[in-house]
Amino acid sequence: MSDLPKVALVTGGSRGIGRTVAEKLAADGFEVYLTFVSRPEAADEVVASIEKAGGKARAFQLDSADRDAIAAFFKDEIKGKADLEVLVNNAGITRDGLMMRMKDEDWDKVIHVNLTGCFAFLKEASKIMGKQRSGRIVNITSVVGQMGNAGQANYCAAKAGLIGLTKSAARELAGRNITVNAVAPGFIETDMTAELPEKVVEAMLEQIPLKTLGQSGDIAAAVSFLAGPGAGYITGQVLGVNGGMYM
Ligand code: NAP
Repeated sequence: MSDLPKVALVTGGSRGIGRTVAEKLAADGFEVYLTFVSRPEAADEVVASIEKAGGKARAFQLDSADRDAIAAFFKDEIKGKADLEVLVNNAGITRDGLMMRMKDEDWDKVIHVNLTGCFAFLKEASKIMGKQRSGRIVNITSVVGQMGNAGQANYCAAKAGLIGLTKSAARELAGRNITVNAVAPGFIETDMTAELPEKVVEAMLEQIPLKTLGQSGDIAAAVSFLAGPGAGYITGQVLGVNGGMYM
């Protein structure tokens, strides 16, 4: 047993689903390292809330679209300084629009943050976890990566790609006792979905057999399970947390 902190790294842990995941993993006993890109005050608030509850956390400004910065972060903050037990690839953005009008920059940005960023974190984490011969990786994909969604070609492509990445990584890393799974949220109440017009929300509810929107706690519970002792024999899976929207 090393004396290094037992860290769970949560990307985009400053708001929404990532915040609740960070708080849950801290309550589970991990020291949480969370990343954010634009709102330091939100990240500080999460750290304060975790510390108030008796846990430990640190926040890092780290753009998931910046591969060099991600490599430098692992070199400076993780390698030799922490036992990286859990990685949650959660940071994500939307730049919605119909395909024929979608700007190339909106396609590129969503793929860079939501897919390439996850690859960069996975690649670095797998080196550390590989040496430890243990680790849990959870990638936050989306129900629309499974179903498709008009107006979200970039986002759906990235999230579907993340499922392929999850399964390939699960096969590559299983020999080192590292599990890699995905959680696919349905329609969860966060800032990301708050912008949607009421009509769209009503139409969404029509598609959800459980007839209610999900909460970030529903996703945090799934992540906590996959990161916890009961899930050691589960890898390469996509756990839908979607109220039955996709079966
Ligand atoms: P959110 O409320 O918009 O929060 C996004 C988080 O990601 C924030 O902490 C944000 O930090 C961070 N972030 C954004 N771009 C980043 C970047 N380039 N580098 C580092 N951090 C970045 O989103 P959410 O609804 O909680 O979604 C979280 C994840 O769940 C995403 O991957 C999303 O695709 C997925 N998801 C959400 C839903 C849903 O219904 N909400 C459904 C399916 C899947 P800043 O505050 O600094 O910008």
